[in-house]
Formats: sequence, structure tokens, C-alpha cells
Amino acid sequence: MAGLNVKKGDRVKVIAGKDKGKEGEIIRALPSKGRVVVEKVNMIKKAMRPTQQNPQGGISTMEAPLNVSNVMLVCPSCKAATRVGHRVKDDGKKVRVCKKCGKDID
Ligand SMILES: [Zn+2]
Repeated sequence: MAGLNVKKGDRVKVIAGKDKGKEGEIIRALPSKGRVVVEKVNMIKKAMRPTQQNPQGGISTMEAPLNVSNVMLVCPSCKAATRVGHRVKDDGKKVRVCKKCGKDID
């Protein structure tokens, strides 16, 4: 799998598109599509079909996936939107590294 530099639970900043400047947490990652769903970002209105739980149907608001290139990881250590580097630890595990402060992210 190609994988993304970001994953579910990461805090990201939107750097392009209509929600540019917003920050939120990734609630879903779609690595095969190169997309992520970010809390309260790229909201769309969607018509819901009536279901047993919601017999009326209606309009609901939900997050639409956005391209991962439109977001930047917010480093948990220095709180800056940053590019992500990688390094291999002594035990052979690969970890993500903040390019700004150099701290491990995982
Ligand atoms: Zn950092």
C-alpha cells in the first residue's frame, strides 16, 4: 500500500480549497484514494433516503473526503503545520518525524 503521511486521529490544517486555514482531526483515511475525511471540513449537504431509523429521510450535513495534498499535518509537539519526514528507529520501526522541530510524531 502506498499509504498516506497522515492517518486517523491526526490533527491537520487545510492548506487549499474552500476550507483553507481550518484545522481538524482526521476521522477517516482513504489511503487507496489518497483522500482523508476531516472533522468539520469540506461539509456537504446530502439527501438521505428514508430508512427504518429515519423514516422521513431528509437532508443531513456530512464531511466529504478531500485530497490529502490539501492538508498538512499539525505537529503535536510544536503545533506547526509541517511536512512529514520519516526515520527508522533502532528497532527497525519506521516513524514519522516533524520537519520543523524534528520530534517523532507517532
Ligand atoms: Zn514539530
